[in-house]
Amino acid sequence: MRCEKCNTVTPDGQSFTFHYGKSMGTSQTLQGTWRFEYTHFRIGGSAEVYICDLCMGRLFRGFSALILIILAWLSSTIIFLAILIPLLQLNVIDVDIGSGIILGGPVLVAVLVDYYLSRQDEYKKNLVRRMRASNSRRLSETGAEQAILLRRAGLEGEGYNAFFTPAQYNNLSRK
Ligand SMILES: [Zn+2]
Repeated sequence: MRCEKCNTVTPDGQSFTFHYGKSMGTSQTLQGTWRFEYTHFRIGGSAEVYICDLCMGRLFRGFSALILIILAWLSSTIIFLAILIPLLQLNVIDVDIGSGIILGGPVLVAVLVDYYLSRQDEYKKNLVRRMRASNSRRLSETGAEQAILLRRAGLEGEGYNAFFTPAQYNNLSRK
């Protein structure tokens, strides 16, 4: 299946369902001193959108990639200093060694960041697999929100202006 978010063809993913419709105006009722306002919808249908586990995982762990990059920077700086400090104390540092270390630094950081990010991708996919295995409501809701974002413009072109995740849809009262 092809992921609608990143266009990758992969079996690691799932279809997320959302519902769409048209808002048909509001009405108000008075109960004592309370005024309730209701929005009325006409449901148009539902859609399924396939999104891969990596795209979903990135939504849940958007922050930790940044933290890991900072950790990579810190650890490479520590390695740096561990090499530089003894060199300085021994007074054997010359321009060639110094520039070699300085040039090697960015390479080391790039390797570390790449390593951490590749580990992150596997971690994220596994996270989504575990969520799917436990029938996670957070996964189906977040997936539906993404599905809405991906299809919204097309459906708005057809006149639909109301979009619901499965939980929102189940909370609608029916007449
Ligand atoms: Zn994807």
